Amino acid sequence: MQYVTLLGATGSIGRSTLDVLERHPDRYRVFALSAHQRIEELLHLCQHYKPLYAVVANASQADWLQARLTECSVLVGTEGLCQVAEDERVGMVMAAIVGAAGLAPTLAAIRAGKKVLLANKESLVMAGALFMAEVQRHGATLLPVDSEHNALFQCMPRPGTDLDVQGVERLVLTASGGPFWSTSQADLVKVTPEQAVQHPRWSMGPKISVDSATMMNKGLELIEACWLFHAPEHRVDICIHPQSIIHSLVQYRDGSTLAQLGCPDMRTPIAVALAWPERIGSGVPLLDLLRCGPLEFSAPDHDRFPCLDLARQAMRAGGTAPAILNAANEVAVAAFLQNETSFMSIPVIISQTLEHVAGTPADSLEAVLDADARARSCALRLLSANRVNH
Ligand code: NAD
Ligand code: MG
Repeated sequence: MQYVTLLGATGSIGRSTLDVLERHPDRYRVFALSAHQRIEELLHLCQHYKPLYAVVANASQADWLQARLTECSVLVGTEGLCQVAEDERVGMVMAAIVGAAGLAPTLAAIRAGKKVLLANKESLVMAGALFMAEVQRHGATLLPVDSEHNALFQCMPRPGTDLDVQGVERLVLTASGGPFWSTSQADLVKVTPEQAVQHPRWSMGPKISVDSATMMNKGLELIEACWLFHAPEHRVDICIHPQSIIHSLVQYRDGSTLAQLGCPDMRTPIAVALAWPERIGSGVPLLDLLRCGPLEFSAPDHDRFPCLDLARQAMRAGGTAPAILNAANEVAVAAFLQNETSFMSIPVIISQTLEHVAGTPADSLEAVLDADARARSCALRLLSANRVNH
């Protein structure tokens, strides 16, 4: 029986994780659940899953929740998140907070040597070098939950070792192409947040849905793959595969290509990460090859979706450039979701922020957080200048 801390319990990954955990009461017990806004939903989850701890964003939420829960201690803020991530009773931490807010608690779990199930790709994009060094130093295990990286992980017998030693030539990340894959450049200018969050294959939170629509999600995933699998950026390819049946592929020097296939449902990669190296039921039906239809592949369109190249550029620049890219993207996406800027200005804001904000070595948490803060204020300045023209 293992205690699991679930950071970001009310989100899309959080709910899918609880669905898998609930199928295996003999293996897992919920230690802590966290939420940032939907506190009533968190109350219902606590009443149902009976965690020892709940973590919320501020004191008034904590008072409200604590008054309704007797056998659960309610903690607050980043300090509370870090406490439930590093508690010695905890075996596994699911990092499913969205964005940079997940960085500190995920790092705390790594430094406590936990088995960390990583959905929060932004934290690895921001602080990849630091994360991988700390994983080594503290004997933590980092298991990718992102479906593409989970697929790559499953297609490699020794995922932590050097690609050349494993005989791997290339990693191929598949991308659905998002909701606007066949939208013309002229029409992309007019897309609304409501259209952008309607993903054709996956049901996800609003931020990652917009990232999928701009294809920055694939850019972030490219950086994520480089860190997780020690891959240079030029050995990671992107292939558009609208059906989202093949979740990614590993190509070996002997001509073999290994792929992982399955229905597009995050409960599969979550179950893989939870039970690895064992296999447990996830509630996802087996793929029916006779019904899944033809599988198509095409090259990405760099003109309509410039975010992919911006991410490659940031990864090549190294240091804090990926943290700057990520921060500018978070600011621009939040503004787009609030109807404060247009869809096509998202890559413009990111590109200009990368030009204006100086990168530094990313050798400490302070350096990464400093770059994140400088990039956010630059992106906000650019947005307010842009708003005049919008
Ligand atoms: P979501 O928006 O549905 O949920 C986000 C969760 O984070 C919520 O529980 C929310 O309360 C919490 N949260 C938000 N802001 C916070 C803050 N400032 N401090 C603390 N907690 C905060 O997002 P999601 O779709 O579940 O995605 C979560 C993470 O997993 C993201 O990093 C995303 O890129 C990654 N991911 C998601 C999917 C998917 O299918 N949804 C797939 C792959 C990777
Ligand atoms: Mg993914």
